[in-house]
Amino acid sequence: MHQPALPHLSQADPVLAELVQAEAGRQFDKLRMIASENYVSEAVLEATGTVLTNKYSEGYAGRRYYEGQQLIDPIETMAVDRAKALFGVDHANVQPYSGSPANLAVYLAFASPGDTVMGMALPSGGHLTHGWSVSATGKWFRSVQYGVRKETGVVDMDQVRDLARAERPKLIFCGGTAIPRTIDFPAFAEIAGEVGAILVADIAHIAGLIAGGAHPSPVGHAQVITTTTHKTLRGPRGAMLLSDAEHAKALDKAVFPGLQGGPHNHTTAAIAVALGEASGPAFRDYAHAVVANAKALAAALTERGFELVSGGTDNHLILADLTSKGIGGKPAAKALDRAGVELNYNTVPFDPRKPFDPSGIRLGTAGITTRGLGVAEMPRVAEWMDRAVTAAGTGDEQAIEAIAAEVAELMAGYPMPGWAPQV
Ligand SMILES: *Cc1c(COP(=O)(O)O)cnc(C)c1O
Repeated sequence: MHQPALPHLSQADPVLAELVQAEAGRQFDKLRMIASENYVSEAVLEATGTVLTNKYSEGYAGRRYYEGQQLIDPIETMAVDRAKALFGVDHANVQPYSGSPANLAVYLAFASPGDTVMGMALPSGGHLTHGWSVSATGKWFRSVQYGVRKETGVVDMDQVRDLARAERPKLIFCGGTAIPRTIDFPAFAEIAGEVGAILVADIAHIAGLIAGGAHPSPVGHAQVITTTTHKTLRGPRGAMLLSDAEHAKALDKAVFPGLQGGPHNHTTAAIAVALGEASGPAFRDYAHAVVANAKALAAALTERGFELVSGGTDNHLILADLTSKGIGGKPAAKALDRAGVELNYNTVPFDPRKPFDPSGIRLGTAGITTRGLGVAEMPRVAEWMDRAVTAAGTGDEQAIEAIAAEVAELMAGYPMPGWAPQV
């Protein structure tokens, strides 16, 4: 059952409570490998479920618009101070509701509608909010987009430099949602410096790896850093803006009053808890284990004939092109989910197929590493994936069900924060 327990919810709204319980069980049984997901600690869950959700706190500590902030101010200050210490930055704003609003705040702070901005194209692994056409950031700004090299699957820094010189963007975003390789922050900084752009490092996916020393930090290279708090960083759903002193005030003003109203204080408290956890030695071990697992899984998948974009991974994330397996990403992802292996279908660079039915799948090891799986288990995970993809091709539902049972049996041996067996 769900931990912390839900006695009042079960009384007040049994149908909803049952759905939550079932979701907890689902998360327990499966290999959850959606690259942006994780399992938060019970301490983070408890902080999220507190009376802090009752309080309005527009403004910042010491400068609020409503009374009664005697205890909210120190809570938000704890989160801010921990973020500054953990990432080694001058300034932190922990109020953005999520990653997308955090990125919008950067545009509001430093650009005007119609200005030129630059980011990585969504099909190459960028995020919607880095100027992709369907996003407000692509509609309201003149967005130019870079990609990866076809031969290597790695960010094309020559294209970044050429585009930046030709287009002179106000903002350059680096980072993304489907980048399996280390982001070269110094190289981006050099280009941004040359054209007078502000470099924005969006570390949503890799923030936990950076905090744990398993990926280089953008600090000292990017003036502005945006991140979600709920991916590898293993906190509640939320986001942060980190920056040098020079850009601090504009970011704060953009978040409030520019874009948002009251901060979600229960989330702020949970972010503080997660940042506290991420500053300990156990989290360093965790971050390195995430990368070791991803590398081991990538090697095992390659051995089984999976074609990986860029040939492997440096971080938590793997992007596989299933063309060689004779199946599309979408039917494969659906079959894998039925087999207890949860991931998402994903466009691969230069994908000849449509975004809603692309060639690839994306997966990550943040969640399964939190559960305690190690490199020894990765060949087995690759074997299940291989069998499930093959079974999907032949329509063998029995084989898929058999895999799901084997997965659940393995996962029963790995505890999950947020769920405990019924006693
Ligand atoms: C996840 C992500 C976001 C957006 O986060 P949401 O909380 O889903 O809005 C922004 N940028 C990158 C690179 C991401 O991976």
